[in-house]
Amino acid sequence: MIPVQGYAGATVAVLGLGRSGLSAARALREGKAHAVVWDDNEAARDTAAAEGFEVRDLGKQGGFDGVASLIVSPGIPHLYPSPNKVVRAAWAAGVPVDNDISLFFRSFATSEWDNFERMPKIIAVTGSNGKSTTSALIHHILEHAQRPTQLAGNIGRGVLDIDPAIDGEVVVLELSSYQTDLARSLTPDVAVFTNLTPDHLDRHDGMGGYFAAKRRLFSEGGPDRCIIGVDEDEGLYLANQMASNAVDDRVIRVSSARKLAGEGWNVFAKKGFLSEWRKGKQIASIDLRNISGLPGSHNHQNACAAYAACRTVGLAPRVIEAAFHSFGGLPHRSQLVGEVDGVKFVNDSKATNVDSAAKALQAFTNIRWICGGLEKEGGLDALLPHVGGVTKAYVIGREAANFAMQLGDLPHEVCTDMATAVGRATADATSGDTVLLAPAAASFDQYDSFEKRGEDFIAQVAAITQA
Ligand code: ADP
Repeated sequence: MIPVQGYAGATVAVLGLGRSGLSAARALREGKAHAVVWDDNEAARDTAAAEGFEVRDLGKQGGFDGVASLIVSPGIPHLYPSPNKVVRAAWAAGVPVDNDISLFFRSFATSEWDNFERMPKIIAVTGSNGKSTTSALIHHILEHAQRPTQLAGNIGRGVLDIDPAIDGEVVVLELSSYQTDLARSLTPDVAVFTNLTPDHLDRHDGMGGYFAAKRRLFSEGGPDRCIIGVDEDEGLYLANQMASNAVDDRVIRVSSARKLAGEGWNVFAKKGFLSEWRKGKQIASIDLRNISGLPGSHNHQNACAAYAACRTVGLAPRVIEAAFHSFGGLPHRSQLVGEVDGVKFVNDSKATNVDSAAKALQAFTNIRWICGGLEKEGGLDALLPHVGGVTKAYVIGREAANFAMQLGDLPHEVCTDMATAVGRATADATSGDTVLLAPAAASFDQYDSFEKRGEDFIAQVAAITQA
């Protein structure tokens, strides 16, 4: 645990008692602060009370008396679509609103570091897609290189739950836009921006707000190195803003769409090869084509970003290349879960938005595509140019018929549930086909989470292939 610094003797309020809220309350207590906590859910309040925390209805008159700061969980809207009433009460009382990520950045460095030979570093990863894969890959490469490392944030442990850093440690954080939006302290040594496509627009009041939230990772503390995916205009704009001239190698530009020219520091993937260029010279090249844990150009983008991040902490290209080969990938992202009679079964349940599903579809051919679920704003139009590799779609979800209507001329079948979809797709498949779950929709109409949806797919595949 990282004891919170700077609030000893003060009262700090915590709103939302899920994983990050409870861990913030504990870390505050460890830092000798008095945590007062609230959650609308009674069971969550009871859990906190059982741990000895003072439960206080912060929304009531006087709820913020004597409170130094309010720590808000990422699931609770702090501005859009409308602020939570406790957040409003904090504004009215003049109490600064903050989050656990910020507490972490304030508290990570300690006086023990004075005796370290190599200062610990924080690499923080944000972006619309590929955050988890990129963070896990950086962590994997560091482990492979035998550097002390921990993985935290949206993936791995809560930020305040990690162990205090040891000499030379590199902490890899995955940060969502909700987290970067609210944190008052945001000072990674290396900041990574993978890409930007529409998502969570309700929480940011549109694309501008969404980009502004992510951009804070770069603008608040001024990281030593910025690794920026430049395949969208927002990335190009951000890279341009962070660099003071064309050769400024504080910025590493990353692309999986084209060769990057320019005299700066560039890492790009083209035709399956990763290249690193610096000051107009090629430094390294890696063949990504046969790396099974990183299929498709979207994963090549993740590979480039992770490569760049590891280069900033001094790892050699060959060490990184060797680690790529032993990366197993993450569950529910391009995950090969079975192969029978030449038919592959791939679980990409994490493809909850149109862009990630498009990327999954581009990574395979002869696809029997299981899609559908709770649709996100914006519809499926942006997906349709990418369905060329799909032989047939098998649509799941409570509104499967409506979803299917948007698929136009693409051959499809309304299956509604996973068992039917996997059964029908398997019956139709022939050798060389891939049965791919890439829903392009959230899971909440039928499942508690995308993980549960992916697990159901795996179970149905096992039932059929082992029968
Ligand atoms: P995040 O943590 O940002 O949601 P993940 O690594 O969990 O990212 O991947 C989420 C989804 O996006 C998966 O369906 C995955 O196949 C797809 N994906 C992964 N990397 C990228 C990328 N660089 N660009 C677009 N889609 C990606």
